[in-house]
Amino acid sequence: MIPFLDLKQINQPHLDRIRKASERVLQSGWYILGSEVENFENQFATFCGTRHCVGVANGLDALTLVLKAWGFETNAEVIVPSNAYIASVLSVTLANLTPVWVEPDPCTYLIDPARIEAAITPRTKAILPVHLYGRCCDMDPICELATRYGLVILEDAAQAHGALYKGKQAGNLGDAAGWSFYPSKNLGALGDAGAITTNDDELASRLRALRNYGSVQKYVNDYIGHNSRLDELQAAILSAKLPSLTTENERRKGLARLYLDGITNPDVMLPPTDQMDQDVWHLFVVRHARRDQFRAFLHERGIGTDVHYPVPPHKQLAYSEHAQCVLPISEQLHRDVISLPLNPTLTNDEVNYIIDTINQFT
Ligand SMILES: *Cc1c(COP(=O)(O)O)cnc(C)c1O
Repeated sequence: MIPFLDLKQINQPHLDRIRKASERVLQSGWYILGSEVENFENQFATFCGTRHCVGVANGLDALTLVLKAWGFETNAEVIVPSNAYIASVLSVTLANLTPVWVEPDPCTYLIDPARIEAAITPRTKAILPVHLYGRCCDMDPICELATRYGLVILEDAAQAHGALYKGKQAGNLGDAAGWSFYPSKNLGALGDAGAITTNDDELASRLRALRNYGSVQKYVNDYIGHNSRLDELQAAILSAKLPSLTTENERRKGLARLYLDGITNPDVMLPPTDQMDQDVWHLFVVRHARRDQFRAFLHERGIGTDVHYPVPPHKQLAYSEHAQCVLPISEQLHRDVISLPLNPTLTNDEVNYIIDTINQFT
C-alpha cells in the first residue's frame, strides 16, 4: 500500500532535530512569543529574501490579518482565483471584503492574468494570486495591473515554500504573502502554524500587534486584534526542518520528473513543465476524463490519491450567494483533477510502480 501521504514517514528524517528543538523549548519555560519565534521569523525572512516575517497561528489567519491590516472599507473587492482552496477565499470574507472570481489558465491551473483586468471595478483593492500546487503565478502581468490600477498584491504562498518566479522567491513577489505550515505542506509543523512575509515595515509592525490582541506594549491595545500567535514549540520545529527544505524540494522535483517521463497513458493529462525547476511540486496533479474510475483503479492496486479540490468555492454551501456564477474552466478542473502521491520520502520503486499501474488503465 502506498498512502497518498504519511505524515509520520515524512517527519522521520527530522526526528533527532525535532526532539532536540522540543527539548530546548521544554527546558526554556517560555512557550509563547519568545526567542524561538523570533529566530524562525529571521530565518524564514532570510530564506524568502524579505525584510520581515511575522509568525502567526495558521495560513488562514496569515491571509486574513494582512487583509485586515490594509484597512479597506467593508465590501471592497479582492480578486481571487476561482479554483482556489477555500481558505484563500475565506480570508477575504473574514476580513469583511468581497471575493471576485477570476478563472485560471487551463494549462497552468493558476489565475489567468489575461482575465484579471475585466474583473477590476472601482471597488477593487487587492489581487490574491494563489501559487497553487507549488508553482508561482505569472506575476509580471499581475504586478503591472496592480501598479496601473493602484491595487495591492497578497500572495497565497501556502503551497509554494521555496518556489521561484524568474529566479525570485515566492513570498517576495507582491506586497505581502501568507504562508501555512500545516503538517502536509512542503515545510510543515507538527500542528498549526503560519506566517506573513513582507518588505513593508509599517505593515509588519501592525501585523505584530494584530496577531497579539492589537497590542504593541503589554496591556496597551491600539487595534482590535486577534490571538493568532505562532507558538515557540512549532517555531523551534520549523527552524529544525527549514534547512532541509531545499533538498526536499529537489527530491520532489526528481520524482516529478520520473512521473513526467514515465506516464505514457494518452488519457492522462500531465501538469505543465515549462517551469520545472522553479516549481516545488507541492502536489503532482494530473487530469483524467473518468477521474473517479481512474482513482478507484489505483486504489484497488494499493495506491492512495486525493483530489485538490472536488468542489470549487463558489459551489460550496458557504458561498451559496455565488452559486450562479458561470466559471466553466474551474468547474471542469474540479471534475477531472487527481493528485498522485508525491513527497520527499517516496522511493523511486514506489513511483515506478505507480507509473506502471497508471499506464495499464484503459
Ligand atoms: C493550506 C492552505 C491554506 C490554509 O492554511 P491553514 O494553515 O490550514 O490555515 C491557504 N491557502 C492554501 C492555498 C493552502 O494550501
